[in-house]
Amino acid sequence: MTSEDYTYLSSTMIRDYIFCPVIFYYKYVRNIWEPETFLMKEGKEKYEEYRDKGKYRVTVLGQRKVKPDKILYSQEVYSRSLNIYGIVDAIYWIGNKAYIVEIKDSSLKKPPPDHIYQAVAYALMAEETFNTTVYKIQIYYRISDTWIERRVTAGLRRYVKKIVHEIKRILDGKYIPEPKKIKACKSCWYRGICY
Ligand code: SF4
Repeated sequence: MTSEDYTYLSSTMIRDYIFCPVIFYYKYVRNIWEPETFLMKEGKEKYEEYRDKGKYRVTVLGQRKVKPDKILYSQEVYSRSLNIYGIVDAIYWIGNKAYIVEIKDSSLKKPPPDHIYQAVAYALMAEETFNTTVYKIQIYYRISDTWIERRVTAGLRRYVKKIVHEIKRILDGKYIPEPKKIKACKSCWYRGICY
């Protein structure tokens, strides 16, 4: 599979790459996928139920006490210049500044890098989709009831663009990432075939 086989790369691919480039390679080049475990399935169902009930909308508006001029939920966003797409949980505007909101069904209190960069990728997509400027990304961890936010800096933007470039190189077979021992290896399903 090459980058040309995709009209657009998904934001999930970006998140997977940041979590571990080797996992990205196994999934999208070698087509080796971790079977869905009971916990994964249960987590997904709970999250969908939570979204269906519309509780997350109340959370976004209520807990942050934001008074947006405009807010949109579950919006498809894309960047033609980077060839990436995704669905953002919410985007709102105060004046001419836009804010991206990502809601994770997680007990984390600190964001791992993959969550930050995925949200920045959403910001870049939203800027092109809505012809707007995204000022901040906000991530809400529902179980720990924790909000974090970051300014969308030039450095973060550059880094996400670099990641997209690297992803395309892997898909085009120009580069195979080398396994590196990281914290996530301990519980990684791919460990048996990795090293
Ligand atoms: S074992 Fe470690 S390096 Fe290998 S795929 Fe898993 S997380 Fe990545």
